[in-house]
Amino acid sequence: MGQRIQIVGAGLAGTLAGIYLAQRGYEVNIFEKRGDMRATTIEGGRSINLALSKRGLRALEEVGIREDVMALALPMRGRMIHDREGRQTMQPYGQSDDEIIYSVSRAGLNMKLMNKAEQTGRVTFFFQHPCHNIDFEKGEITYGHPGGTEITESTVGILGCDGANSAVRMSMQKSTRLNYQQQYLEHGYKELSVPPDEDGSHKLSPDALHIWPRGSYMMIALPNPDGTFTCTLFLAYDGAPSFNQLRSKSDVRAFFQANFADLIPLMPRYEEEFFENPTSSLVTLRCSPWTKGSALLLGDSAHAIVPFYGQGMNACFEDCRLLNAALAEHEDEWVAAIKAFGSARKPDADAIADLALDNFVEMRDSTADPIFARKRELELQLEEAYPDRFFSKYRLVTFSHLPYHVARDRGRAQDSFLMDLVRPVEDVSELDLADVMERVEAALGPVPSEKELV
Ligand SMILES: Cc1cc2nc3c(=O)[nH]c(=O)nc-3n(C[C@H](O)[C@H](O)[C@H](O)COP(=O)(O)OP(=O)(O)OC[C@H]3O[C@@H](n4cnc5c(N)ncnc54)[C@H](O)[C@@H]3O)c2cc1C
Repeated sequence: MGQRIQIVGAGLAGTLAGIYLAQRGYEVNIFEKRGDMRATTIEGGRSINLALSKRGLRALEEVGIREDVMALALPMRGRMIHDREGRQTMQPYGQSDDEIIYSVSRAGLNMKLMNKAEQTGRVTFFFQHPCHNIDFEKGEITYGHPGGTEITESTVGILGCDGANSAVRMSMQKSTRLNYQQQYLEHGYKELSVPPDEDGSHKLSPDALHIWPRGSYMMIALPNPDGTFTCTLFLAYDGAPSFNQLRSKSDVRAFFQANFADLIPLMPRYEEEFFENPTSSLVTLRCSPWTKGSALLLGDSAHAIVPFYGQGMNACFEDCRLLNAALAEHEDEWVAAIKAFGSARKPDADAIADLALDNFVEMRDSTADPIFARKRELELQLEEAYPDRFFSKYRLVTFSHLPYHVARDRGRAQDSFLMDLVRPVEDVSELDLADVMERVEAALGPVPSEKELV
């Protein structure tokens, strides 16, 4: 084919899209504003990890890199809930070995994707080449050169994979009627860490995503293969308690003693890390259309979401898979394919954005609520008894390939139906499972078939 596509951004979406395009026969140039992470110290030495699940894994499998990535991954079988007294309760994600999520290093994954992209022989990276502007009328892209000069090239196709602060999107905003909405959460986040035990082992069980739900705020921890955990504190910027209230080490100590006492002995440097590490904001970003001329926004540049469903990267990887399918369907008619992909995918991006916001409330608040715990127990029993008929909302989002908007609509309706059922009972064993299953299907119909919808 030999057509040359320019991708802006060598993050997770840009590198995977590069591999897909190269495997279709395109020549690909990827412009990245940062240096090559394979050659430099990254992330200030901190391990930052992401939850990888079925949708992301399917795309990695399609391009032939799943096994390589799995070598980096640690399975997480459920949520381990830590209460204020230090008691731990495991809430499994699903019933089978197929229904687990994986903790994987963001940098490790990105580097594997870069290597795989280069191995295709059709992808060339240009590091320290920030995109400055796109002139859609002339079909030209301008980027900075490490020498300080600017280079302008003509282009036949552009993928804007340059994340939430996308320069490609900003160029679109300047030159088209782009609808754009960004919504900051009142909460920010800060990363902290749990080092390994003296013998190198994990100090908490490594096969779970740990959560300390505390009402309006929470801490989570994901395991890393080196025995560490990366913890993230989600807390409001203002009010009580908030980041703005925690101004000294003694404030932080008192806050941890009241809320995360079981973490203190595991985190010898939490007071220092709290002030060394930045507080970052959380944003949901929606825009439309995602295309202008021969350019398409893909990944976070089109739909950055808050991280509470662990789906941001998974959604980006699914974008890449679906774009590839659209190119196949449109026989590589670039503009027709990107337009078809963009308009079909937009409702699903909106749906996962909604679900991620819902899940913040569920994680920080509801996981500690006894009615929610009963609903979760009922869901697990239904999934075990009727694996082909019952799918919890979490399972629809995380362990299926159903379009996100289908997962959201079915999942929300089902949640409210089940909460009503478990609210009056003391114990789920009082409910007859067969009867519940029939009532769910009578009220909501059978779960849509993946075969028909995917
Ligand atoms: C705290 C947190 C936790 C998360 N946890 C999860 C999780 O558990 N599971 C999950 O699936 N997702 C998670 N996510 C979401 C996930 O990180 C993102 O969805 C994903 O990284 C988006 O990939 P991307 O390639 O679109 O953008 P990015 O990863 O932001 O990559 C964009 C790239 O473009 C480059 N760039 C930017 N501007 C320019 C320019 N002008 N010119 C050239 N290059 C440019 C950047 O340097 C970067 O390399 C989390 C996000 C956050 C914030």
